[in-house]
Amino acid sequence: QARRQGLSQVIGYEAGMEAAADKRYTLSHDLYHALRGDEIHIALQPQVDLASGRVVGAEALARWTKRDGTSIPPSEFIPMAEANGLIVPLGRRIIELACIALARLGSAGFGNIPVAVNVSALQLARDGFLNDLRATVELHGLPASLLEIEVTESIAMDERTGTSNVLEQLRDAGFPLAIDDFGTGYSSLSYLRSLPATTLKIDRSFVHEIGNTPERLAIADMIIRLGQRFDMRLVAEGVETPAQREWLIARGCHQAQGYFFGRPQPLSDLLTTLRGWQANP
Ligand code: C2E
Ligand code: MG
Ligand code: MG
Ligand code: MG
Repeated sequence: QARRQGLSQVIGYEAGMEAAADKRYTLSHDLYHALRGDEIHIALQPQVDLASGRVVGAEALARWTKRDGTSIPPSEFIPMAEANGLIVPLGRRIIELACIALARLGSAGFGNIPVAVNVSALQLARDGFLNDLRATVELHGLPASLLEIEVTESIAMDERTGTSNVLEQLRDAGFPLAIDDFGTGYSSLSYLRSLPATTLKIDRSFVHEIGNTPERLAIADMIIRLGQRFDMRLVAEGVETPAQREWLIARGCHQAQGYFFGRPQPLSDLLTTLRGWQANP
């Protein structure tokens, strides 16, 4: 009996794996077509100056809404696109959409608002990446300084991938560089110092614990002091409460992003907020 059960468990497990593989295959196939159609877009999350509450930038986040109206979260399709290589054309599309948004911001009179895009290791590792990037901003009549490149701490710190070379080239070409999800990797502090990054983004797991766990709070505090010492722009991610905002202001964090200030949103909503400030400073 026990043996039978064991067997059926094994078979059940394999059937489950097959179903999962099947689903992945279908999703990959769908994403390929989504890219050729118009199912991929971006949402812009405002980045605000903590002291004044003003919007000073935005992060472009990939969104996939299927024609039937259902949405696939980035936590599903980004890792999949990284695994099957579609991240390269997907990333190119996101950068193009970010440049279109920047151009529209410019013509609406907000040409001083930069937009950040997330870039994966595979994109950075491709030979033509920097040239593509340059060509895209040029095509849209934009200075490189308006398109910020976000790479996660683990990518930026991986000395083996040779990304530091690309990061330096990006900096030399005038693209601002942000280290995303900072605090979750295993960086050596001296290596951080040598990176050409201008911005540190404090991972939201540390911001969440403000008011809860003392050790995590100590980490957020340490990151802020580190950024200040290295003269970097500090952005706290995932700010959801007034208490978190107060704490960050008291510690001297410069900027923040989070549901408390604004969800990832269409450009038209971001423009409404910006115009509101303009009319009513
Ligand atoms: P990320 O770059 O760290 O982006 C921040 C994530 O936190 C976003 O999730 C955003 O919607 C979410 N978030 C913002 N404020 C809050 C808050 O107050 N509370 C909570 N709980 N969450 C908040 P999203 O859009 O689901 O993206 C998840 C991740 O997927 C991103 O993390 C990024 O690593 C990746 N991603 C998104 N778009 C792209 C892309 O175009 N290219 C690449 N390579 N990765 C992307
Ligand atoms: Mg990011
Ligand atoms: Mg992040
Ligand atoms: Mg993240």
